[in-house]
Amino acid sequence: MSTTPRQDLLQAFDTLLQPARFKDYGPNGLQVEGKPEVGKIVSGVTASLALIEAAVAAQADAIFVHHGLFWRGQDGRVTGWMKQRLALLLAHDINLYAYHLPLDAHPELGNNAQLGVQLGLAATGRFGEHDLGFLGGRTDGGQFANAGALAAHVKKVLNRPVTQAGPAQAAIKNIAWCTGGAQGYFEAAIVAGADAFITGEISEPQAHYAREMGVAFIACGHHASERYGAPAVAAHVARQLGLAHQFIDIDNPA
Ligand SMILES: [Zn+2]
Repeated sequence: MSTTPRQDLLQAFDTLLQPARFKDYGPNGLQVEGKPEVGKIVSGVTASLALIEAAVAAQADAIFVHHGLFWRGQDGRVTGWMKQRLALLLAHDINLYAYHLPLDAHPELGNNAQLGVQLGLAATGRFGEHDLGFLGGRTDGGQFANAGALAAHVKKVLNRPVTQAGPAQAAIKNIAWCTGGAQGYFEAAIVAGADAFITGEISEPQAHYAREMGVAFIACGHHASERYGAPAVAAHVARQLGLAHQFIDIDNPA
């Protein structure tokens, strides 16, 4: 198995995901500098201590995640969980690459596109800020008999309980989705013409919007909705550069 310079790997991720196009909640790209040459990438959803430990055990030279370590609003102190995660990364000289919104948005390999693949949905349009929302329908052109049938389908595919709000009877043809904590995209999905909206999380207002606007809202879990983009991108880039890649899912009930 070959290796590639840390900067070339960064370049490959940047070329694919184009982070400069996004105004994000944290820095995209190389968040923690490790060894100069990378032979093996471990991908995961979140740069948690458990993922870093698993990457160490897997002898990774780089970790590629959707949720990195640094976010707007943090106070910048390296204490507690931050100290533990950073200490382990630095002790093993592991590079940490993190891409947030650019990883949600990529039209074929991103979280939204890959969740669509899992659910058998194809996008015909995009909506919302940064065009992060995907709008389309079933790949086979069919429709769901009602929101309950769609919710049951999502639950079965993701193997995760879902929360459903809004109309229960109407057939569902136009389906909008946006992974993670995208409950704030619900109103844009309604305007875009969705019969149902799927995201990871629900907050209190969305159930009312769903009932009042007649559009179903399905929350399937933040983590569960974002398990597919990081491995798709990391596998693609690893193949491109002749590197080893392994996806490690650290289960999360959220
Ligand atoms: Zn997320």
